Amino acid sequence: MSEIRKIVHLSFSPETSGKPVVCNIIKLFDLCFNILKAQINPREVGEMILEIHGLEPAVRDGLEYLKEHGVKVTPVAQKVRKDEELCMHCGVCTALCRPRALEIDRKTWKVCFDSEKCVACGLCVKVCPVKAMETQLENGAL
Ligand code: SF4
Ligand code: SF4
Repeated sequence: MSEIRKIVHLSFSPETSGKPVVCNIIKLFDLCFNILKAQINPREVGEMILEIHGLEPAVRDGLEYLKEHGVKVTPVAQKVRKDEELCMHCGVCTALCRPRALEIDRKTWKVCFDSEKCVACGLCVKVCPVKAMETQLENGAL
């Protein structure tokens, strides 16, 4: 069975943000996780970008567990987008993109976006001179 890595955006309501649901998925499903960004206040809606590693069925069950406990789970890939019409392939964003989700294709010299690698840090959004990168996170890029 293969191990997979998923990067997801979690949104917690005031009712769920005080509960240890993220810690529970380690114990219950034998998963590893890495919190890439978090903004949680027990009395408000909270957001977290989480990288999860584990066996494919365990990752799926862990994410289902979070949803069943009131956490809104969205793949980060659906939260960050590149507007191909606007991008002028200047390459500025590639220098800042640590997980290499934005890279120059050496054959075409175009900047390509691999949403599966993106961790939604938002740096590309801040530096892009033509606003070709966009995040749809509730609190910007956290
Ligand atoms: S900074 Fe903006 S315009 Fe330049 S390559 Fe990146 S996305 Fe395209
Ligand atoms: S949001 Fe961060 S990780 Fe995602 S493409 Fe932009 S710079 Fe790279």
